[in-house]
Amino acid sequence: MEREHIQCDGLAPDDEPGMPEFEDDKPREACGVFGIYGPGLDVARLAYFGLYALQHRGQESAGIAVGDGAVIRCQKGMGLVGEVFSGEDIDKLKGKVALGHVRYSTTGESAVENAQPLVFHYQHGMLALGHNGNLTNYHELSRQLAGEGAVFQTTTDSELIVSILARTTKDNLADGILKTMSLIKGAYSLVVITENRLFGIRDPLGVRPLCLGRYRQGYVLASESAALDTIGAEFIRDVEPGEVVMIDDNGVTSLRNHYPSKRALCIFEFVYFARPDSVIDGLNVQRSRGALGRELAREHPIQADLVVPVPDSATCAALAYAAETGIPFSEGLIKNRYIGRTFIRPSQALRSLGVQMKLNTVREVLNGKRVVLIDDSIVRGTTSSKIVQMIRDAGAKEVHMLVSSPPINYSCYYGIDTSRRSELIAASRNLDEILALIGADSLNYLSLEGLYAAMAPLAPDSFCVACFSGAYPIPVPEAGEVDAHACNC
Ligand code: SF4
Repeated sequence: MEREHIQCDGLAPDDEPGMPEFEDDKPREACGVFGIYGPGLDVARLAYFGLYALQHRGQESAGIAVGDGAVIRCQKGMGLVGEVFSGEDIDKLKGKVALGHVRYSTTGESAVENAQPLVFHYQHGMLALGHNGNLTNYHELSRQLAGEGAVFQTTTDSELIVSILARTTKDNLADGILKTMSLIKGAYSLVVITENRLFGIRDPLGVRPLCLGRYRQGYVLASESAALDTIGAEFIRDVEPGEVVMIDDNGVTSLRNHYPSKRALCIFEFVYFARPDSVIDGLNVQRSRGALGRELAREHPIQADLVVPVPDSATCAALAYAAETGIPFSEGLIKNRYIGRTFIRPSQALRSLGVQMKLNTVREVLNGKRVVLIDDSIVRGTTSSKIVQMIRDAGAKEVHMLVSSPPINYSCYYGIDTSRRSELIAASRNLDEILALIGADSLNYLSLEGLYAAMAPLAPDSFCVACFSGAYPIPVPEAGEVDAHACNC
């Protein structure tokens, strides 16, 4: 693999490892961010393991930037964290502050120049930025900046943030960040480093998560608390919506322009994205998924012999459904966890097997049974019918499909790839039509009320549920179909 060794190294697109050939029918998280301030610590190595813990949030590219007090050095490339960095690479990244980023692009622009962190020189030195989320006023701002003569190296909204930050910062970067936050709109959790400082920034409604932890003499920021646990850091608190935390030799300083009156945390973090061992805004993901299963059991009790989850994200809900209804739980579907990315492209014949390459049935478990099949969500419905058929082929007498979230009716504009609205199976079909396409004996979704009830003690108005309800908490562009898909982070 050839790498440029200037200030920021990138693997050329030709070096890109195999792309995913076995897609799930799932929304895709766009990015994960990790930051550490720790003079005397091996910050690059800690960032590396932090990113490993966040790999589920983005599998197309990974990068780490390190500030040593004088300059920022960065290495990034296409692929998984374990593919992008060697031990030698990490050894070379010495410093006191680090920023790590994993990315999944939803624009099809899976190019190394869009990999993050983005590293820039500006009038006061250098800075690097990692972004999770999506700006809703990207087009308006980019037109404005281009009109003022700005040029861009990437096609990401993250670069736009850097450009605004560089323009608005006069003497003080913290003031520049607050000013930038007043100009950008949308969902963003940002980690920014300079040569010797670390900043964590969460959008005014807190759509995307970001938490703060303590590691020995230093501090850590991460998209999810599981990344703090992974490196042995102690969770302190979530970064609050609209808050900027600045971390340097003086410790943690909290800054903000205003106190927003409402929140809109992405509820899909609990349904599907986040790791079950993470705690976001005080709510453990595994417990909330269990509560989703119990709500599902209350709303849709079914006469059946077996509860089977679509692994792995529906397992918590299925276990809880089984416990609540008294129907035995069994893993009738087994997932190959290693097929997602392969260096060898499968033949067309193998590719046509589709979901079968990733999931297999256990005939001994399913044969002759009335099965409740539980999944966490259905996006386009492309795999559900295949899974139902596989379970029938394994001898099941009946297949009743339950979904532990409401139908996805609307696209996400806030950093999640939920597909275009026209591709969403529930956007233009009623329950009977979806059932006919999926081919199950029955199909039911959890209601929005049930979803809210499972998130207790957090109140319903703490969440964004726009992909279910269409009630967007941040105004979205009118040319929605294009922009909803154009998450660039
Ligand atoms: Fe999350 Fe859906 Fe809101 Fe997007 S629209 S932020 S996926 S809840």
